[in-house]
Amino acid sequence: MPDLFIDGSWRGVLDGRTREIRCPADGSPVGVVDEAGGKDTADAIAAARRAFDDGPWPATAPADRGDLLLRVAGLLVRDKDALARAESLDTGKRLVESEYDIDDVANCFRYFGRLAAVEAGRVVDTGSSAVDSRVVYEPVGVCALITPWNYPLLQTAWKVAPALAAGNTFVLKPSELTPHTAIRLMRLLDEAGLPPGVANLVLGAGPEAGAPLADHPDVDLVSFTGGLGTGRRLMAAAAGTVKKVALELGGKNPNIVFADADFETAVDMALTAVFLHSGQVCSAGARLLVEDVLHDRFVDEVVRRAGRIRLGGPFDERAQTGPLISEAHRSKVEAYVARGLAEGAVLRCGGARPEGLDEGFYYLPTVLDECTGGMSVVQDESFGPVLTVERFGSEAEAVRLANDTVYGLAGGVFTTDEAKARRVAARLRLGTVWINDFHPYVPQAEWGGFKQSGSGRELGPSGLAEYREAKHIWRNTDPSPQGWFA
Ligand code: NAD
Repeated sequence: MPDLFIDGSWRGVLDGRTREIRCPADGSPVGVVDEAGGKDTADAIAAARRAFDDGPWPATAPADRGDLLLRVAGLLVRDKDALARAESLDTGKRLVESEYDIDDVANCFRYFGRLAAVEAGRVVDTGSSAVDSRVVYEPVGVCALITPWNYPLLQTAWKVAPALAAGNTFVLKPSELTPHTAIRLMRLLDEAGLPPGVANLVLGAGPEAGAPLADHPDVDLVSFTGGLGTGRRLMAAAAGTVKKVALELGGKNPNIVFADADFETAVDMALTAVFLHSGQVCSAGARLLVEDVLHDRFVDEVVRRAGRIRLGGPFDERAQTGPLISEAHRSKVEAYVARGLAEGAVLRCGGARPEGLDEGFYYLPTVLDECTGGMSVVQDESFGPVLTVERFGSEAEAVRLANDTVYGLAGGVFTTDEAKARRVAARLRLGTVWINDFHPYVPQAEWGGFKQSGSGRELGPSGLAEYREAKHIWRNTDPSPQGWFA
C-alpha cells in the first residue's frame, strides 16, 4: 500500500523511491516505505492550501472540531497495542515505554479536544458604548509539522492535535527513520471523519521532503522539533516568506543535587534523568551538578547503579533501556565521549559498546566525572547515555553553572530546603524546572525552551495559541461623520 496521504487519498511517490526501515535493536527488517521528494511535498502543500481556502474545516465550529479529536483519542486507545508495537520496532525502545507514549498521545488529543471550544474569543471594553469590539481567534492556515525520531508519535501529537483544534490544515513530515506510527495516525484521522486535504503526510529525508516546507509561499507556519542546527536552517529558510516559526530544539539539561537532598531519591532520579531511552530525550538530565561535599558518595553510587543497567530490545522483559537509533548516531556519541576524555574528563563507567548485543546500536551507560564548564561534553548535546559530572560549592555557583550553556530547555533541583529550591528555580533560565523530580510533564502545562532551546511553546493554552491568529473586529454601533477633513 502506498504511504503518502495527500488530499484524502493514499498514493506513492512520483519517482518511485523507497526506504527500508530496520529495527535499531537487532537490524531486523520492519518495512519498506515510500520516500518523497520535493514534488510530492509540493502536491501535499497544494492539497492543504485548497482544504484551508475552500474546505469546511477552518469554519467548522470549534466544539465540533473538539469532538473529532476526542474520537481520535478513542481510536488511539483502541489501537494502542498495534501502535506501541510499531513505535518500538521503528525506534528500538522497550514496548512498555511505547505503551506509555501511546497513552500520552491519546491524552494529548483529549486535552486539545476539550480545549478547542474554550477561549473562542472575547469582548473588549473600549470605554465607549458606541463600539462593539471583539477579539476572535482564527486558524493560522497551512501548517508544516516536522518531527524527530525519539518520540515519533508523541511529538507528532503535540503538533497535530492543537493544529486541528484551531482549524488549520497541515502537511506532516515525520523523521525518515520512524515513519510507521505517522502512517497509522493518518488512517485514524481519516476514520474519525476529518475532511480530505486537512491532514497530509509526506515521508522522506529532511533536505528533500522537508526543506520545501520551510520556504514555500503557501505554508503559513512551520512547527519543528529536532536539532539546533536544523532549527537554525529552517528559521532562515522561513524568513523569506515571514512564516510563523515554532521551534522545539535540543537541551543540555542540568540536574542540581544539593548535599541536603534525599540521597536515595536523588540517586534514583539522576539515573532516570539521563539514562531513560538511552539519553535520547530532549530533556535528558545529562549534566549532573553535585555539591562538593556530597560528590564522592553520590557519584560512586550513580556509577555503581549505572554499571548494572540492563540493555536489550523492545520485547526483552529484563531490559531497562534500549539501543541508539542508528549506527551513525552511535558513532556521534562515541566521538563525543572521546572528545570529553581528550579534554580531561574521567571515565567512571561505560564508554564502550556492550558485549553480546552486536546486532543492534547499543552503547553502555557512561559517566564522565570531573568535568568543567568549558568542555565540549558539558556544552554540546550528546543525545546518548552519557552523564557529565561537575562540582559546585555554593547555591550561586550551582545556578551559574546550570545556566552556562546556549540551551534552556529543562532541569532538576534536588534539596529538602523548600526556600532554596524556590530561589534556585526562579533563577534557572529553563522552560521547565522539576523540584525533587525529573521528567514528568502533563499536556495542561506548557513545554518549550528558553534561549537556543527554541521559540514558542507546545502543550497548555499557549500550545493552542501557536496555531491561532487573533483578529480584532471593531464595529461602530452608532456611525456618523467625524468631520476630520470636512
Ligand atoms: P533533526 O534535526 O536531524 O531532524 C528532525 C526532523 O527534521 C526530521 O524529520 C528530519 O527529517 C527533518 N529535517 C532535517 N533536515 C531538514 C531540513 N533541511 N529541512 C526540513 N526538515 C529537515 O533531529 P533528530 O535527530 O530527528 O532529533 C533529535 C533532536 O531533536 C535532538 O537535538 C533533540 O534534543 C531534539 N528534540 C527536541 C524536543 C523538544 O521538545 N525540545 C523533543 C524531541 C527532540
